[in-house]
Amino acid sequence: MPPDEAGAVRGHRRALLVGLGESLFGLHDSGLQPAGSRRHQPADVRARSPPPLPHVLSRSSADHGHLAVCDQAVPRGHAGHAVGCGGARGVERPTGQPALLLRCAAGAERDHPSTLNPTLNPKQVNQRSYADEVLSKIYALKGKASDTFTVEQYGALSIDPERYPLFVFKSKAWDNAKPTCLVTGGVHGYETSGVQGALLFLQTEATKYASQINLVVAPCVSPWSYEHIQRWNNNADDPNRNFVPGSPCDECNAVLDMLANLKDAGARFTIHIDLHETTNSDEEEFRPAKAARDGAKYEPDYIPDGFYLVGDVDNPQPEWHAAIIKEVKKVTHIAPPDAKGQIIGEKPTQEGCILYPLKSLGLCGAVTGDYQYSTTTEVYPDSPKANDDICNRAQVAAITAAIDYVLAKQ
Ligand SMILES: [Zn+2]
Repeated sequence: MPPDEAGAVRGHRRALLVGLGESLFGLHDSGLQPAGSRRHQPADVRARSPPPLPHVLSRSSADHGHLAVCDQAVPRGHAGHAVGCGGARGVERPTGQPALLLRCAAGAERDHPSTLNPTLNPKQVNQRSYADEVLSKIYALKGKASDTFTVEQYGALSIDPERYPLFVFKSKAWDNAKPTCLVTGGVHGYETSGVQGALLFLQTEATKYASQINLVVAPCVSPWSYEHIQRWNNNADDPNRNFVPGSPCDECNAVLDMLANLKDAGARFTIHIDLHETTNSDEEEFRPAKAARDGAKYEPDYIPDGFYLVGDVDNPQPEWHAAIIKEVKKVTHIAPPDAKGQIIGEKPTQEGCILYPLKSLGLCGAVTGDYQYSTTTEVYPDSPKANDDICNRAQVAAITAAIDYVLAKQ
C-alpha cells in the first residue's frame, strides 16, 4: 500500500510497533491524526534489499525535522533521499555520494545556508517539471474535452502558487441524481503512474463515462512532490496522513474544500479511486532514512511484486475489489502474498487486496467521507515485468473497472 500505511494498519489491529516511536511520516504530523496512527511505522516501509544508506544524519533532542533532497537526477520511481536530521549544521556524506540540499521544515533555515534551501531555490532541486509533464496535458485536455468536462483550478500550493496550481476535471453533464466518482492521483508525488494514469484516463476513457456518472478527477494532488520525486510535501508532511480537518497540508485542504463545495451543491460520492504506487524506493530510501533518523536498526523488508488494492476495513466491498483485480490482471500481474502469506504485513482478504482503516488514518481514500466504494491502487513500477505504459494502463483499468461495476448495479 502506500507503504506508509502498512505499519499503521498493523498497529491499528495489533497495537504493536510502539517501540518504533512515531511514524516516519508522522514526525511532522499535525497531531490531528488519531493517536493510534502516529505510533506505527509507515508502510512505505516495506522493502526487499538493504541498500547502503547514503546520507546518515543524526537526530537531536531539538529535532524539528528536515527534509533532505538529493540534487542529482533520480531514476524514475525513486523518491530522492528523504532523511531527518537534528538541525545539524554540518552534514557528513561519504565520498562519491550525491550532495544534499537541505530544506528545514520548521524555521531551521537559519541553520543552513539559504543557498541550500530548495524552498528558496526550488530550481536547484527539481527533478522533473510539473508544467511540462502535467500542466501541459491538463491544458491540452481542457481544449479537447471542453464539451465534456469543466476544468477548474481548485487551489494552489502556497510555496509557489503560480508554479503549482491545482486542477480538477468535472463532468459538465452534472446531475446530483447520478452517482459521483472521485479519482485522485499524485497524493504521493513520486508515484508517477498515479498522476500519469489519471491523465491517461482523462485522455482515453473518461469521456464515455461523463454522461453516465459525475466524474471528479484531480490528477496531481501534490505537484511539489511530483517535481521533486518525493513522498512528502515541501513541509515534510505526508499528505496521505493528513486528509483531516485543519490539515497542515495545502494539498489536503484544497481537496477537502473542493469536495465540500461539491457536497454543499448536493453531490454524493459513490466511488473514490486513489491512485498510488509501491516502489522499491520505499524500502531503499525511506525506511533506511527513518531508521537513521531514529537511531534504530534498519530491518530489511520486501516490496510486493505486482499490483494490489487497499480497501476500507470498515467497508470492504469484496465483489467490487474482485471486479477491479479481474480487469487489472489483463494489464499487469497481481502481487502474490509473501512467504508469510501477507502483502506488506497484511493478510490479503482476497487476491490482490488488503484492507486498512482508511478513515481513522486520515488517508485520501476516505476524504469524501460518504463513499460507498473506495480503494487505493498500488502499482509496482519497479517490476521487471512492468514499464511506464503498463503502470499507467493498470491505473486506467482499475478506474474503469470500478466504475463499470457500479454502473452495472444501477
Ligand atoms: Zn502512495
